[in-house]
Amino acid sequence: MVNKWINTAQSLLYPSTCILCGAPGSNDLDICSPCRQELPVNTNCCRLCAAPITAIADCNKICGKCMVSPPVFDQCIAPFLYLEPVDQLISGFKFRQKLGSGKLLSLLLLDFLRRIQGDKPDVIMPVPLHRKRLTERGYNQAVELARPIGKHFKLPLDLSSCVRRHLTLPQMSLKKQSRLRNIKGAFEIRKEIRFRHLVLIDDVVTTGATVSELAALLKKCGAARVDVWALARTP
Ligand SMILES: [Zn+2]
Ligand SMILES: [Zn+2]
Repeated sequence: MVNKWINTAQSLLYPSTCILCGAPGSNDLDICSPCRQELPVNTNCCRLCAAPITAIADCNKICGKCMVSPPVFDQCIAPFLYLEPVDQLISGFKFRQKLGSGKLLSLLLLDFLRRIQGDKPDVIMPVPLHRKRLTERGYNQAVELARPIGKHFKLPLDLSSCVRRHLTLPQMSLKKQSRLRNIKGAFEIRKEIRFRHLVLIDDVVTTGATVSELAALLKKCGAARVDVWALARTP
């Protein structure tokens, strides 16, 4: 009751405003309805790796790549395509301290996850950031994305079992083969993995090299199932 009153008071004092066009926000989110409808959604995608599929939609679709070789992780969910303005919102959040964009992105991802059926994981593991990057940036964007999701689904966040031991180059800046080399051996498990079903949270999945590397390591250390929840997939 008190919480509800506080929320109402907050929305009266600080009405939501669209981060993209400045119009009043909709549903207490900092995005208006027309701008939200224009976001590039990843509707027709592979049910395993979330890569966009251009062929005719069917409910059991798997991309050619996953048919030949299924991913190490069990399922990737990514509601948006890494196109304008989602790419701008993500890079603002990641590289220009735009925490308001991060909050909006996290709530949009949560809104999508709330609507899908599926087994609830035991724990959320945001993809770890190297210590040096964390010091430079002040926050790990994957942790910030994960917080409202963990709170909503009442899932713990595991922020200490795994560390990033190599300072890797940004995956986006590299070609496919270099991405695999860049990320190989980048993570280290520091504690026993006690959970069976984990979900990794990251901002963007490009080739999936980062989440595959981490999922393989977690499975080697006893995880039975590793899913991925990301904001966006590159087309
Ligand atoms: Zn707008
Ligand atoms: Zn696929």
